[in-house]
Amino acid sequence: ESADKKPEIKGKTIPGISNIIAVASGKGGVGKSTVTANLAVTLSKMGFKVGILDADIYGPSIPMMFDVEAATPLSVNVDGKSKMKPVESYGIKILSIGFFTQPNQAVIWRGPMASKALNQMIFDAAWGELDFLLVDLPPGTGDIHLSIMQSLPITGSVVVSTPQNVALADAKKGVAMFRQESINVPVLGIVENMAYFTPEELPENKYYIFGKQGAKNLAEDIDAPFLGEIPLVQSLRESGDIGRPAAMQESTPLEAAFEKITRGMV
Ligand code: ADP
Repeated sequence: ESADKKPEIKGKTIPGISNIIAVASGKGGVGKSTVTANLAVTLSKMGFKVGILDADIYGPSIPMMFDVEAATPLSVNVDGKSKMKPVESYGIKILSIGFFTQPNQAVIWRGPMASKALNQMIFDAAWGELDFLLVDLPPGTGDIHLSIMQSLPITGSVVVSTPQNVALADAKKGVAMFRQESINVPVLGIVENMAYFTPEELPENKYYIFGKQGAKNLAEDIDAPFLGEIPLVQSLRESGDIGRPAAMQESTPLEAAFEKITRGMV
């Protein structure tokens, strides 16, 4: 909640959208989309108006995580212009690159094509008023990232990593990308996902499957805020698969963990 953490919007702005937060990871499969989905519902529970732009061209999983895989965005008329209407689920407005591809069909998006589609989803969409638009980026640091960063007024970024060395090395590159002079997007913090595992029958035990506190140490190392950790939990995976983000469930350790991370971000 500290005012000094709130970045200024640079370049062009999008009327009606107050903050655009990019959620990134160096490596795929570390839980970037899971974290995006749960941050979105947590922000929404806090009373903010929230949207998600799923820009993960390699594997858009936000529609599944919000149980809207079969949805197709409708066209609406806004001031005489035809605009794409985001699909709404649990009060979150969603546009995904996945809404425009055939299920089970691999789509090779060329850089310019993907950038064009993403630009349309931002600028030619009827997002309405949003406090936060979360952008679920593709993993890694490539041309798509550069083009998104250059064309969108991103206000801040969150980097998700597991404590594993290969993931951390890539997360570090992600942070370096945001901090590059030509991009200059403030890093709001690092989230450590799959931090440890606790078996039900041994509730006092923590097993550090991917290593201990790697992302936390990385955050210190690169002078970025550490937002918090999420353990490896079967119900978190299941809630993603059935399309009902875990943080929606009240009074659980997962709800509390996502709330802590979200509070560090806003
Ligand atoms: P990414 O967006 O980085 O590719 P996902 O969010 O799609 O990663 O997560 C990859 C898989 O791991 C998904 O099946 C997801 O449900 C699962 N998963 C992510 N985080 C956790 C966690 N903390 N505990 C258990 N499963 C998780």
